[in-house]
Amino acid sequence: MRARAEELRRLLNRAAHAYYVLDAPELEDAVYDRLYRELEQLERLQPGLISPDSPTQRVGGAPAEGFQSVRHRIGLLSLDNAFSTEELEAWYGRLLKVLDRPGPSGDDLPALPMVGELKIDGNALALSYERGLLVRAATRGDGESGEEITANVRTIQSVPLRLLLENPPPWVEVRGEALIPDHTFAAINAERAERGEALFANPRNACAGTLRQLDPAVVAARRLDFFAYTLHLPDAWTPASGAADPARPLSQWQSLQWLAAAGFRVNPNAALCPDLAAVEAFFAAWEHKRRQLPYATDGVVVKLDDLRLQADAGFTQKAPRWAIALKYAAEEAPSRLLRLVAQVGRTGVITPVAEFEPVGLAGTSVSRATLHNADRLAELDLHAGDTIVVRKAGEIIPEVVRVLAELRPPGAAPLQLPSSCPECGSELVREEGEAATRCVNSSCPAILRGTLRHWVSKGAMDVDGLGAKLVEQLVDRGLVRSIADLYRLDAALLASLERMGEKSAANLVDALEASKQQAWHRQLHGLGIHHVGAVNAKVLAKGFPSAAELYAAAQQTPERLTALHGIGSEIAQSLQQWFATPSNQGLLDQLKQLGFSMAAGEGELAASANSSAEATGIDGREVLAGRTFVLTGTLPSLSRSQAQALIEAAGGKVTGSVSKKTSYLVAGEEAGSKLAKAESLGVPVLDEAELRALLASGP
Ligand code: NAD
Repeated sequence: MRARAEELRRLLNRAAHAYYVLDAPELEDAVYDRLYRELEQLERLQPGLISPDSPTQRVGGAPAEGFQSVRHRIGLLSLDNAFSTEELEAWYGRLLKVLDRPGPSGDDLPALPMVGELKIDGNALALSYERGLLVRAATRGDGESGEEITANVRTIQSVPLRLLLENPPPWVEVRGEALIPDHTFAAINAERAERGEALFANPRNACAGTLRQLDPAVVAARRLDFFAYTLHLPDAWTPASGAADPARPLSQWQSLQWLAAAGFRVNPNAALCPDLAAVEAFFAAWEHKRRQLPYATDGVVVKLDDLRLQADAGFTQKAPRWAIALKYAAEEAPSRLLRLVAQVGRTGVITPVAEFEPVGLAGTSVSRATLHNADRLAELDLHAGDTIVVRKAGEIIPEVVRVLAELRPPGAAPLQLPSSCPECGSELVREEGEAATRCVNSSCPAILRGTLRHWVSKGAMDVDGLGAKLVEQLVDRGLVRSIADLYRLDAALLASLERMGEKSAANLVDALEASKQQAWHRQLHGLGIHHVGAVNAKVLAKGFPSAAELYAAAQQTPERLTALHGIGSEIAQSLQQWFATPSNQGLLDQLKQLGFSMAAGEGELAASANSSAEATGIDGREVLAGRTFVLTGTLPSLSRSQAQALIEAAGGKVTGSVSKKTSYLVAGEEAGSKLAKAESLGVPVLDEAELRALLASGP
C-alpha cells in the first residue's frame, strides 16, 4: 500500500506539473482523476501515508515563472468531484449532516434549493475591482496566490473594465471561467501545426497557455471568453439607497443575476433546482445537449443556493463543502490488469485481450479490451499486474491505449502471446509481413465455433435462436463439424440440449430452413472467406452472380475480379485459395445439396441494379472516386455501415482516422475528437444531408 501510494504520488505530481505549469498534459484528465481518487482513498485508510508533497494536499499548481505572484483576497479553492449520482447523493447526505439537518433516509431527504451550473472546462480567474474598476486579474495558482495577468485579461471583451453600477462597493471579487471556444481552439492548433509547433491537447490547456502569454497582443488575437459565476462582496456592505443598483444577493442564484447586472457574461444555462431530483434532471438533460455548445464542458457544478447556509457548511482544506462537481462519464480510465487471454477468432487469428478490474466507461462497465495483435502487445510492453489506460467511446470497442509503467509492481513479468493455440494446442503461426498470429488447424474448435457464429450472424444468414452458448454445446459435443451439419440437426436432438425446449428447437429448425432463401451475397459473406466482408461480398455477388462463376474467375481470370471497385489482388488471392481448398469445395457441394442456391435469384439481380443506380448517382458514375471519408457520431437516418456502403459504392474510400489527406468528415450527433481534428486541419465537415447531396451529384 505504501509503495502504491508513493508511486501514485510521484506520477500525479509529475502529471500536475505537466498540466498546470507546462500546459502539456501527460495523462488524460479522467485517468488523472481516478488515480487521484485512488491515492485519496489510500490516504484515508492510512493517514500515516499522507506526505506534505502529496497532490491531495494542495490546490492546482504553483504559479509559473515570468509573472508576478499575487495573494488572493479570498482563497480560490478547487471543487470535490462526484463521478456518479450515487456520489452526488452521498455528498448531499454529508452536507445535511454538517448543516445539522439529517433527514429520514432515501427519497425523503429534506430539500435544499441548489443551483446547477455547467462545469466549463476552462481556467478559473480571480478578478478584483476597486470602486468599480478592474484593478487586478489573477490565475487560481495554488489557491492562495496566483499569477498576476491583468494586462492579458483586459483583452477579454466579456470582462468589464468598469462595473455597470451607479454606486459600486469599495471592492468586489469576481470568479469565473476563462475559456477558448472550440472553433478558436481548432484555428489555434491549425496555425501551430503549420508552424510545426506542438499542438495543445485541449481547449483548457490552450486557454491556460494563452493566459500566460507575455504579450497581451497575442492574447487579444486569441479571443478568449469569460463566464462569471462567483461573487464576493465586503461583509455588511449594501448598495446605497436610491441607486438603481441591484440589491445585495442572498443566494447563488441572485449572485448570478447581480453579476449579469454589473456587466458580466453569465452562462445562460444555469438552473435553480428545488431539490436533488431536479439537480439530477439538470445533469441528465445536459449530458447530450452540452455537445452542441461551442465550448467544452465536463460536468455540472452543484452549489447550495443560500449563501448563509454556504457559510455554515464551510470548507475542507481544498474545497467548499457546499458545492460539488458532478462529472460526465469518462471515455478513458485506468484499471488494473488481471490477466491476458488469447482469443481465437473464426479465421484462426489470435487476438490478445486484456481482462481487468471493471471500470465505468462511456456509461457502461468494461472489464475486457482488445490489444489487437502481437505487435501492439509488444509496443505496449504489458507486464503482469500493470495499471493500464482503457478507452471506450460510444459504440467503439474498448481498447487498451497505454500502460502506466510508473505504477508497475516490482519484478512483474512481461506478457506475450502463447506459442500454442489455447483451444487446440497446435503451434501458432505468424507469416512474415503479417500482423496476425494464427492457429492454422482447420479443425480447431474455436475456429469452427467462430465460423458457425459468423454464418448465422445478422449480416449473413441472420438465423435467430443460435447464440454463442448453443454453438459451443454443438461443437463441444461433436454434433456439428461444419456449416452444413447445422442443417442436419433435428428438432428432437436440439430440444435435448441445455436451455433448449421443444418450442425453441422447432423454431430454430424453421429459422435454419428459412435461411436457405437468403440472398447470394449473404451466402457468400457467410462463408467467411478472408477479406470478403459484407461490402466486398455485395460487390462480388453483383459482378459474379453464382459461386461457379466466381470460382471460374478466381482461378482463370483474376483480373475480372480486380476490375471491380474495391476488390484488390489480396482479395482475389484469398478467393483463389479458398476455392482451391478441397474441403471448401466439399462444403459448397453439400450446401447446394441442402437447398442453397449459391447464386443470385432473379429478384435479387434487379434489386442490386436499382440500389447501385441510387448509390452511384443517376447515371451510375463513381462520383466519389479518389475521395477519402471518415465517419463519426450518429447520423440521423443512416447507420455507419450503410453510410460506408453508399460511399464505397460511389467510388469513395472510408478510413478510420482524420488526416490532412481526408477529403471529408461526415459527422453526426455526438461527434467527438475526430470532429475537432477535422476542424483543426481544415477538413470539410458534412452532415448526412450534405453527404446525400454529394452522392447524388458529386463534389
Ligand atoms: P476541477 O477542474 O475538477 O474543478 C474546479 C474548477 O472548475 C474550478 O477551479 C473552476 O475553474 C471550474 N469551474 C467550471 N465551471 C464552474 C462553475 N460553474 N462554478 C465553479 N467552478 C467552475 O478541479 P481543478 O482543481 O481545477 O483541477 C483538477 C482538474 O484538473 C481535474 O479534473 C484533473 O483532471 C485536471 N488535471 C489533469 C491533469 C492531467 O495530467 N491530465 C493534471 C492535473 C489536473
